[in-house]
Formats: sequence, C-alpha cells, structure tokens
Amino acid sequence: MNLSEFDLIDSYFKRSTTVQNSGVALGIGDDCALLDIPEGYQLAVSTDSLVCGVHFFEDVDPYRLGYKALAVNLSDLAAMGALPKWVSLAITLPNGAMVNNNPNWLSEFTRGFFALADKFDVVLVGGDTTKGPLSITVSVKGIVPRGLALQRNKANLGDLICVSNFIGDGALGLSIKLNELAVTNPQYFVDALELTEPRVDLGILLRGLASSCIDISDGLTQDLIHILKASHCAANIAIESLPLSKTMRKEVNLGKLNNDEAVQYALTGGDDYELLFTISENNLRLLEQRIAQQTQPIPSLSVIGRTTLQQSELIAFFKEKQAVTYSTGGWDHFK
Ligand SMILES: [Mg+2]
Repeated sequence: MNLSEFDLIDSYFKRSTTVQNSGVALGIGDDCALLDIPEGYQLAVSTDSLVCGVHFFEDVDPYRLGYKALAVNLSDLAAMGALPKWVSLAITLPNGAMVNNNPNWLSEFTRGFFALADKFDVVLVGGDTTKGPLSITVSVKGIVPRGLALQRNKANLGDLICVSNFIGDGALGLSIKLNELAVTNPQYFVDALELTEPRVDLGILLRGLASSCIDISDGLTQDLIHILKASHCAANIAIESLPLSKTMRKEVNLGKLNNDEAVQYALTGGDDYELLFTISENNLRLLEQRIAQQTQPIPSLSVIGRTTLQQSELIAFFKEKQAVTYSTGGWDHFK
C-alpha cells in the first residue's frame, strides 16, 4: 500500500459527521481553516508531541495511542478552564498507513483519536502527514470567557491545595509496562496510563473559583512547584491526604509494593492528568455546590495541603503532622 498524503487525509481524517455550533467557518481542504471565536471569549491553544520510543512504545495499541495523543492535549485545556473546540494533527509515519507491520494501524489510531474527539465535540480542522520516524503532534484550541482562564501564577497564601480523583496509578502502569514491577491487577494501572480521562468538566467548574490550576503530567510535586514558583509561595502537603486509589491500596496490602513506594508514585510518578488547583476555603464550598448541581459525573476532590509563605523548601511534607522527607524529582526530558 502506498498512499499519497491526499489519499491518507481522505481515507483517515475526513469525517462525515458534523458538530452543531462547531464554530468552523471553513474546515479541512483549503490552505487554512477559519474558526469563529464567540464574542467575549479568548482562544486557548496548546501543542504536545508524542515521539515513538520517548513517549510511547512502538507496540502500543494504536487505538489507545490515538486516544491518549488527544487526551493529554485536552487535559491542558481543562487545566486552563477552557472548553475544547478544535484540533489539528500532524503525524509522521514510517511507511504509509502501516506501522509495526500492522496494516490497520492508522485506522485504529484515528478510531481512538476520534472516539475522544466526538465525546467532547472537538472538530479536526487541519493536519499534516509526512514520512519519517513515527511521531504525533496534536494542537488543540479551546475557548474560555475573557479573564476567566485558570493560570499558574495566582495562588494566594493560605489557599487549600486540591487534586482530582486518584494519583499514582498511571505511573504504576508505566512501571508495569517497563517490567519494573508485578502486581495482581496490572490492567487497571495500564488502563490508567493509556486511557487518561481529561478533566474538562471540572476545569470549567473551577472558573472564577480556583486561584490557580495545572494538570499533573510530570508528577504532583513537579507540577505543584510550577504553581508555587509562578505564585511566589510554598506549600505544606499532608502525605496521608494523597488520594491513592483503592486498587493501589490493595496492592500495598498484598505486599506488591510498600506504602512509601505508593506515596512516591503519587508524588513524582506523573502521567496522572488529574487537575491540581489552589482555592480558598470559601470558594471550595461554592465549588462543592456547583458540583452538586451537575448531572454528569465529576471526579472526587481531595484537599492535600495548603499554600504557605515562602520557606527554605518549596514543599514541606507532613505525615500525621510530623515533618517527613520525600523526593520531589519528576519527569524532565532534558535531564
Ligand atoms: Mg499541562
């Protein structure tokens, strides 16, 4: 099979479905797409590249890769409180539509990609295909009411530090895939790694209430440090408040990893794509009221600490009110 770039686009990226109120004045097919931004909104834009051998394994399920390539980008929009609208996709393929001797690779990849795009009514408005080592670059665009985007630099002293759902599961999934660890329920953790749920609904509910927000991609402590540095404050974190999943706790109880290892996965593992945000006590109550009015499920929230005046360490850890030490190292491509 030797498809031209245009064949590839026609075969794999053109959709027959349409999205209501998509804001697409002109879609794929001209030199540019034309997009309408509603009055009073700002455009939020984020780009992420996934490179084979660096961000994913060549033998990864292509459906899951397509899903995750979009999910990690939507997670960035969620962290800004933006509503996802449009996406463009640049994909470099070694051999037409075939990867790893799988002739269905590209159709599976796009099936995963569009499954998530359709869930959030995100429209593919452009892209590029080239030949070379397998890599994927996704650029998402969302909209957020002017002035309401959640940023990293507005945390206030004494704010509560909160995190959505559970943390550490994705990183454990990566360890399982790297054969560093054997557990009793590996699929749960691999799913957490590969089928990330971007917290778009929660991000939108945080508008006007959270003082700062980030999505946890590089590890809780690393991403918290981004907020603390930008906001010129420090943090106290209560280790016993970290939301470890039931499945993670079960593995600890079964002796597959010890409690400190589980905590370390949660603190520095990364690949969680949960939202980490700061919020005043008053606004947390308002947020809980907003959440109670939702019909769609919103993940649980945990208060894990508080912002403080700058101290010698950016993050001080406590276990049952006693100071303890944990590593804050996270994922850094250039280290
Ligand atoms: Mg991010």
